[in-house]
Amino acid sequence: MRLTGKRLLVTAAGQGMGRAAVIACASEGAQVLATDRDPGLLDGLAEHGIETAQLDVTDPDGIRDIASRVGALDGLFNCAGIVHHGTILDLSDADWAHSVDTNITSMVRLSRACLPGLLARAADTGTASIVNMASMASSIKGFPNRAAYGATKAAVIGLTKAIAADFVTTGLRCNAVCPGTVDTPSLRGRIAAAPDPVKAEKDFIARQPMGRLATVDDVIPLIVYLLSDESRFVTGQAMLADGGVTI
Ligand code: NAD
Repeated sequence: MRLTGKRLLVTAAGQGMGRAAVIACASEGAQVLATDRDPGLLDGLAEHGIETAQLDVTDPDGIRDIASRVGALDGLFNCAGIVHHGTILDLSDADWAHSVDTNITSMVRLSRACLPGLLARAADTGTASIVNMASMASSIKGFPNRAAYGATKAAVIGLTKAIAADFVTTGLRCNAVCPGTVDTPSLRGRIAAAPDPVKAEKDFIARQPMGRLATVDDVIPLIVYLLSDESRFVTGQAMLADGGVTI
């Protein structure tokens, strides 16, 4: 019960790592508000004692509403993000704007809106935590066809360090998580959409020296740790769980 007494807010909790994270956090004793753009994907979380709400992270009004609903907060996990497939030559202004809005502006808005509640808890308890979902792919190590993704995930790491530095004396910590390639519904969608899905899956596996895709369970313990008091002396870090890609 490493998160007992903690109130957490999580975005993109409908599937993949966000869903696995909210279930893990609830099982560690946290009181979790799980949000997603698609409320249907949040079905089944109530049986884990998890509260749910619809939130599209590109909606500034929705962000304001959710932040005022949660009030004092021990942890925020900004998980939402999308992959645009293509080089810079394939990137329309609209695709770029959508990637920026979803992957980084959302984190600016939600972190800013939740900061008063996080700082209030940090003042009471000595610690509060923001965890931002970045990525290893193209923000730390370059890969083809990830122009918008790599640029926006690198911006997540910069934002993380800036927030960590600005609030380091308050007890509020901010860290980023940088997974390798993780077997989630959207990865399965990217594989299925490739011209040769069998080859696409082999290629994703081949770029990870451990020789397999990550599962959500390879990454979620890192998120639980960063939201818990066990990481109380850790801030401004971009923590990798990438199967050895960046050795
Ligand atoms: P996923 O992509 O399968 O699911 C993402 C969830 O995000 C869905 O439930 C979807 O409804 C929700 N979502 C999408 N746009 C949203 C929006 N505007 N507002 C709110 N919710 C929205 O899950 P995943 O693959 O675990 O990805 C989660 C995060 O992890 C993303 O930020 C992604 O970039 C990052 N990531 C994924 C991998 C990977 O290989 N899967 C690797 C590194 C980082």
